[in-house]
Amino acid sequence: MTCARRAHLAFMSNPSSRVGTVYLVGAGPGDPDLLTLRAARLVMNARVLVHDGLVDPAILAMAHRDCRMISVAKQRSRHTLQQNEINALLVREALAGNDVVRLKGGDPFVFGRGGEEAEDCLAAGVPVQVVPGVSAAMGAAASAMIPLTHRDAASIVTFVAGQCKGLTEQNWAGLAGVGRTLVIYMGVATAEAIAEKLMADGLAPTMPVAVIENASRPQMRVLRGSLAGLGTVVSANRVKSPALIVIGDVAGRGDMMELQQVVEAVK
Ligand code: SAH
Repeated sequence: MTCARRAHLAFMSNPSSRVGTVYLVGAGPGDPDLLTLRAARLVMNARVLVHDGLVDPAILAMAHRDCRMISVAKQRSRHTLQQNEINALLVREALAGNDVVRLKGGDPFVFGRGGEEAEDCLAAGVPVQVVPGVSAAMGAAASAMIPLTHRDAASIVTFVAGQCKGLTEQNWAGLAGVGRTLVIYMGVATAEAIAEKLMADGLAPTMPVAVIENASRPQMRVLRGSLAGLGTVVSANRVKSPALIVIGDVAGRGDMMELQQVVEAVK
């Protein structure tokens, strides 16, 4: 049965009932100022808000006091709700007539499983709207002042998930190297294995890396090093999720955060 047909049937079976819309909304990397205007409006007007653990409390605090907030916090090793249960929850709320703001860290369609949520909603006859957010790569690049592309250093950027099905079998050859920037999401636990994988593919051990933890938040840390030392940088500094790893020459250019401090000091 097609989605349209299912939606039609859902309506025909109960024509008086209203079906809500599910808004898949990107909350950005943390700083509430990095919400889009549309996202901010939706959060402030939400009556039902379903959110992940990555969404900053300051953003959740923008919601109306009558808003029903449902946390489906997912952490790498501790899932409070399975993805199919989250999808079912969204469908259930919408079929009960509620508009649902589904707030996700960063952008809903970048490692956010927004695709699965949208597919299940549509298959159940629930309309979906997607509101993009500032993905962690852009948020981290801006906060750490590491350009992802640079005329002299990189004209290709790749986003990969460091924690995913079949990481070891994946072929990453060519994703990193001269003229290229590799951005790794969810790579804290696998940092050392990733560095070894890339070096086995021929990447120089001296290739610069940066690890950006809690980008755009007050507690942000930016750690720099080389590919061979990536595992040590992560373990010695006890880097915790959420953190992003940037591999490529862009991470080894002059430290613009440091320059910025000097410029600010003499201004
Ligand atoms: N949809 C999100 C990504 C979800 S996957 C987005 O577009 O950003 C979760 C991963 O995103 C984390 O493990 C981390 O690698 C990265 N991440 C999210 N927020 C971050 C932040 N503030 N600082 C650094 N990395 C972040």
